[in-house]
Amino acid sequence: MRTDLTKHYKSIVYITLHAKQIFHNLRWPTGVVCPYCGEVHIWHYKNGTYKCSHCNKRFSDTSNTIFHASKIKIEYWLIALYLLTMSKGISSEELSHYLGITQKSCWYMLHKIRYAFRQDGTVLTGDVAVDEVYLGGKWSSVVLPKKIDILKKYGLWYEDEIKRTWHKRNVLRAIAEYKQPVYGMNDGSKIVLQALPNHFNSGDLLELTNQYISECRHLVSDQSKLYKEISKSGIDVIQMNHSQGEYKKDGYSSNRIEGTFSHLKRRYRLNYVRPNKKYVLNAKSRHKN
Ligand SMILES: [Zn+2]
Repeated sequence: MRTDLTKHYKSIVYITLHAKQIFHNLRWPTGVVCPYCGEVHIWHYKNGTYKCSHCNKRFSDTSNTIFHASKIKIEYWLIALYLLTMSKGISSEELSHYLGITQKSCWYMLHKIRYAFRQDGTVLTGDVAVDEVYLGGKWSSVVLPKKIDILKKYGLWYEDEIKRTWHKRNVLRAIAEYKQPVYGMNDGSKIVLQALPNHFNSGDLLELTNQYISECRHLVSDQSKLYKEISKSGIDVIQMNHSQGEYKKDGYSSNRIEGTFSHLKRRYRLNYVRPNKKYVLNAKSRHKN
């Protein structure tokens, strides 16, 4: 689906006209500082570059950023950044249509921006709602020959028992293999989404929980067995029975994470028909399956 640009029109024109100044102000909100040693006494050159008076190193506005030495103009970078964050996401195909540069360049830009958005240092505290979700497009939108290929790949296709091949359990297993599981954590102000390996267990969840959550009072989850395992490790887990419509209990709520996933899924559904699981949440760089 194409993003409605009419409401973003003024902002995009403004970014195009003042890109360099906007970037300069964003990069140095309190004045130019040496990115190598932190020195504030800097020599300015006419061509827009700087030299540090302490370490004598030359640098520019884009030094030590993802935009450094890029042949793509800074206004294109800023428009890509703006459209990616202000609308419900954008695909490289669509961005290429707006910027008039190749889809390949746009794909590279979007991946670089998403990589810069990674949540390595985030720490969640208090009551944290957690859940898992599978991303990667609808099974019904996969064409039949591809479905058969996937079933064959995971050893779920039986030549002489075609009827049993489409058994619900086989199809569910194929979908689980074909999609990318994602673990979501939300403490009310901060969100962490992390890709999981395909056959994840409570150990994987516990590892991510310990990595991103500290001073956790309660973990609010669904009735999955995985969280019963986690509760044995000393973390206080409150489980909601979603099958009976229970989303709030004793002042705790799991709606936060349901809302996060709702937005995440809508983002994917709007922009992509069948996203490759390799690229969901930069999964490739985190889990080398
Ligand atoms: Zn310096």
